[in-house]
Amino acid sequence: MKTNSLLLCLTLVAALSANAADAKKKDAKKGDGHAAVGYTDTPMLPGGKWHVHDPDRPQPRVVEPAKEVGQPPGDAVVLFDGKDLSNWRDAKGNPSGWIVEHGYMQVPPRGTTGGGDIFSKQEFGDCQLHVEFATPNPPEGDSQGRGNSGVFLLGLYEFQVLDSYNNRTYADGTAAALYGQMPPLVNPVRPPGEWQTYDIIFTAPRFGADGKVSQPAIVTALRNGVLVQNHEAYLGPSGHRNLASYDKTKATAGPIKFQDHGNPMRFRNVWIRPLPETDRN
Ligand code: MG
Repeated sequence: MKTNSLLLCLTLVAALSANAADAKKKDAKKGDGHAAVGYTDTPMLPGGKWHVHDPDRPQPRVVEPAKEVGQPPGDAVVLFDGKDLSNWRDAKGNPSGWIVEHGYMQVPPRGTTGGGDIFSKQEFGDCQLHVEFATPNPPEGDSQGRGNSGVFLLGLYEFQVLDSYNNRTYADGTAAALYGQMPPLVNPVRPPGEWQTYDIIFTAPRFGADGKVSQPAIVTALRNGVLVQNHEAYLGPSGHRNLASYDKTKATAGPIKFQDHGNPMRFRNVWIRPLPETDRN
């Protein structure tokens, strides 16, 4: 009796294993030389394109990460590596007069030639942007007059750069604010003269056939590794003392712009990863 039960069990196990092997074989991608992975007898995900655990869904692209976090990964477009401004221009399309020394670029002193905002020659839409900046030490001025610059996505949407170390100003104008719209969640500030990082994930706005905005510009950002904006929407291109709106723009791509606000601000290690819209569809 006991022997019969054992035999029955063994037979069942063998049958189940054979079924599992059959199912696996059915799911194998024929001819690609890879071991079978995934399932095709699972429910469809919303959108109707892929099964849950679909074996045929494209693999994520391999990207070589940098040896140190903050350095450009393998697929980044390096906009400034500390050597020259060959990837930058001034507002008129001429070479920029910003100073390059000691591995950083700097806004020229007020009253000298070569100042003005600086723009990347290349244009970008959705992107991941890394910027390092240092505010002047010793600091000069107060409020918006101290260590002011800005990172403008599409050349239009300001992510504020300011010395926010013991420097009171209006909250929607402090460092890491969506200027004139939304203060940062917190102020993870470093003192004047020290290098600070912005890691900005930006989704460009979308516009419908009627020209009206169908999805606003969205930003998520970390300052010195701390979350400062979480999927926050811009009301429109940034301005001063006005309410932003999308009335006058339909741009979905543009340059990265750093602002010359009259303070000798420094930037280094600037890189960007353009983000395709449909990478994972
Ligand atoms: Mg500014």
